[in-house]
Amino acid sequence: MSYRSKNCPVCSTEHKKRGPYCSKSCSNAGRVVKQSTKEKHSSNQLRRMEKGSEHYDKSIESLQKINDPEARQEPVAPLAAPPLGVFRAGKDLWYED
Ligand SMILES: [Zn+2]
Repeated sequence: MSYRSKNCPVCSTEHKKRGPYCSKSCSNAGRVVKQSTKEKHSSNQLRRMEKGSEHYDKSIESLQKINDPEARQEPVAPLAAPPLGVFRAGKDLWYED
């Protein structure tokens, strides 16, 4: 299904998408974001990244649900660097004697 043909009010491109604008960037053109809004988004993002905070735990929890809704409750440890003497080609690992 497509919508009726119309012209974007920002760039005048003819399109058959939903709504008056041809793209996200055109729909955001001329949008003024208040400084207080930017600060609010920034502080919320910082709170989400602060370890031990309620927001951090929630964001980790939701990431785990996305990756594996069945099981994983514990955060996965970051990958360690391979030990010296290990060569990686493609996905194979082997040791040099
Ligand atoms: Zn446009």
